[in-house]
Amino acid sequence: MMRITPAIRLSIGLIILVISILLLAQALGLTSGTEKQQYETRKAFAETLAVQISIAISRGDDSLLRDIMNAAIERNSDIQSAGIRTNDNEILIQTNQHSELWQGADPVKSTPTHMRFPLIISNIKRASFEIRFKALSSEHHPLLGIPTFIVLIIFVSISGFFGFWLYIRRVLKHLDPSAVVPARVRNALNILAEGVLILDKREQIVLANSGLLEKLNREEKQLVGKKASSLGWHLIEHQDAQEFPWLTALKTNTKQVNVRLSLSRPEQNTKIFRVNAVPILDAKGSSQGTIVVFDDITELEEKTALLEDMIKELAKSRIAIETKNKELTFLATRDPMTNCFNRRALYEYLEGDVTGSLKPDTEYACIMADIDHFKRVNDTYGHGVGDDVIKMMAASIKEVVRENDMVARMGGEEFCIILPSTSLEVAHTIAERCREKIWSKITGGVKVTASFGVTSSTLGAKNYDQVIHQADEALYSSKENGRNKVTQWSMEIVSKGG
Ligand code: GH3
Ligand code: MG
Ligand code: MG
Repeated sequence: MMRITPAIRLSIGLIILVISILLLAQALGLTSGTEKQQYETRKAFAETLAVQISIAISRGDDSLLRDIMNAAIERNSDIQSAGIRTNDNEILIQTNQHSELWQGADPVKSTPTHMRFPLIISNIKRASFEIRFKALSSEHHPLLGIPTFIVLIIFVSISGFFGFWLYIRRVLKHLDPSAVVPARVRNALNILAEGVLILDKREQIVLANSGLLEKLNREEKQLVGKKASSLGWHLIEHQDAQEFPWLTALKTNTKQVNVRLSLSRPEQNTKIFRVNAVPILDAKGSSQGTIVVFDDITELEEKTALLEDMIKELAKSRIAIETKNKELTFLATRDPMTNCFNRRALYEYLEGDVTGSLKPDTEYACIMADIDHFKRVNDTYGHGVGDDVIKMMAASIKEVVRENDMVARMGGEEFCIILPSTSLEVAHTIAERCREKIWSKITGGVKVTASFGVTSSTLGAKNYDQVIHQADEALYSSKENGRNKVTQWSMEIVSKGG
């Protein structure tokens, strides 16, 4: 099927216009000039002939009459026949079966084909001179036999249509914006994987390369002439650019780079493009348009988003792990009943292995504490009260010591306190305060006392085991000497105890 191109459509329109003008001219009688002329010539000729015939009749010269009529017919090919008719409607003289050819004539008026003149002799109309002409040559085409005006219209229609078509096609080619890009350039751009648009000053698309057409799933002719901004782009948020890069490039004559745009098309996934727009400047530096390059980063963006999600998840789980680790460390180092450190945590602290532990070569004091006659509490008031008494003992110690002193439950109702950078005397005072605090409290109706042993790392111990041992020895001495006491370690108590 033939495609109705714009050139054909325009040509048809122009032809209709020309024919309308011709028909109007015809209606106004502007085209009938030749027919009228022909008619006037015939009339003048026939009139002259009628005068000559009148003269011949008045002279009564019949042979002259015939000669005039015959000569007239011979000379003028337009004349078919001639005759003289009496007032009684009888043919007096005729040539070429005039009476037959005259049939159909208007009874009164002369027409271009049937002309009638009175033959007046001595002021009296004696007869009529009739002359039969062929049809006016301009009325019908000699070969086609149809009215010449119709022939003219057909001719103008056909020849005009082709004339207009060829001309308009040529003109449109010049006007076609895509024709300004040479084929070489177009081919080169089509090789690129990136999408390319060339825009004119008014951001109208002059060229779209095959890379972009594939991405947009469009044909070039659907895009050429349209404004680039009308294709459904969206500026992705959170970037410097505030408008489409080609608009900025056209306004400011500067290159725009790495502007991210998204494009949503029906029944297709949203695509994301990284877009650069470079202005096309003429020799004077004024803008002629812009070249816009579209890099499809949909996949990259998706992967980046995925990665970002994963990083967030990782950070979350790292925080969760850290929290869990802290919890675990807490649980592993604490006595659940009193929240004091356990024996293992105390040894780690003294060994200096873990963060926050005692710094090597730091002098420290050590207090050992044990509730007096605790078995009796358990036996008399039950284990529940016994537990409460142990908790009271832990709380009392913590109320007295400093924050960075280490309080550990060694087992049962026995506690060990390490006081870094603390002298024996100060440690003694602290133990004394603990003793008083415990003695001052009543738990579940029970009042208990505790005994204390105090020593220092400066009293000759070679390691923390020996320090703890000394504190134990001092505690033992308190128990031996009546309980509810604080005893400082010395060689003396050892020899006594021994
Ligand atoms: P002393 O004055 O000589 O210290 O006499 P004591 O009766 O206090 O003797 P000891 O310190 O040896 O007694 C420890 C008792 O503590 C033995 C055990 O029944 C009790 N005990 C140990 N752990 C717990 C505990 O977690 N809860 C309770 N209620 N009792 C405990
Ligand atoms: Mg005890
Ligand atoms: Mg004990």
